[in-house]
Amino acid sequence: VKTIGVLTSGGDAPGMNAAVRAVVRTAIAYGCQVKGIQKGYSGLLEEEIIDLYAGSVSDIINRGGTFLYTARCEEFRTPEGQKKGADICRKHGIDSVVVIGGDGSFQGARQLAANGINTIGVPGTIDLDIACTDYTIGFDTAVNTAMEAIDKVRDTSTSHERCSIIEVMGRNAGYIALWCGIANGAEDILLPELYNYDEEALIDHIIANRRRGKKHHIIINAEGVGHSTSMAKRIEAATGIETRATILGHLQRGGSPTAKDRVMASVMGAYAVDALMGGKSNRVVAYKDGKYVDYDIEEALAMQKEIDPFQYSVAKILAR
Ligand code: ATP
Repeated sequence: VKTIGVLTSGGDAPGMNAAVRAVVRTAIAYGCQVKGIQKGYSGLLEEEIIDLYAGSVSDIINRGGTFLYTARCEEFRTPEGQKKGADICRKHGIDSVVVIGGDGSFQGARQLAANGINTIGVPGTIDLDIACTDYTIGFDTAVNTAMEAIDKVRDTSTSHERCSIIEVMGRNAGYIALWCGIANGAEDILLPELYNYDEEALIDHIIANRRRGKKHHIIINAEGVGHSTSMAKRIEAATGIETRATILGHLQRGGSPTAKDRVMASVMGAYAVDALMGGKSNRVVAYKDGKYVDYDIEEALAMQKEIDPFQYSVAKILAR
């Protein structure tokens, strides 16, 4: 390994900068050169490649987003695009690439490896939806950001004795919703994994809570369930209680990363370079059962993950 390329791909996540910084500085410690590939696979195909030095990554550990930019790229899904990407790596002397992103980005890394470039994936997504790992970079910051926003909605919701539906991100995964549900003490949590929510039961719960004297009713709804606005209208019509939907949206993706995200990103970024230097390729870094490990990309992509039923049952009991 002489020159390591690093890119961020898919949705951005707080902590990606800390991961890039760790890759750059660890690689330099090994005596390697480092190139930053901007805008994910799209920037690779456009040859938007810059030299990175230890100083290029100063002052970014505390910043949200990704200074390398990120993008989605349709062309890289084609065999021609993938071959072109690998050829461009070779043209720039890049023999190995660290890909920071989600499952889709790892598919891309697998294709680069199939075309002769050593690759290693680092899990970066606020959604926590990568099956092989118990942690993905950005999750902690996103949950904290959403939690603080939901606290604010709760204040006004209580004052007006309203019912509030707050929709959080997570794509098809309900981890942010579940964590906020517990952290914010929500009365109800709607998760895509358990998409059996019964609106009549939800309405009965709201009415029963109001009879018990509860001043608000907070429902955390996951993006994967969606339809918060129409749900609010139906609940208001059925209960007579003023009901508002708040969709938190992209604010959940930004902001300065928490300590946890900075540390996890730093360790995983360094681990990725160690793995490459140890001769590994076509693998993904993971945090599993309290340890940093790595998996074959194909094996990692085939894994399944589910919402912890105990955590969900706790959320339900505490919401009573
Ligand atoms: P997030 O979970 O934050 O959305 P992600 O990495 O899963 O992140 P995707 O949009 O699925 O996000 O993938 C990012 C990019 O990876 C795609 O735009 C594409 O360039 C590349 N990619 C995705 N799937 C494949 C594939 N099967 N083969 C090659 N490249 C792929």
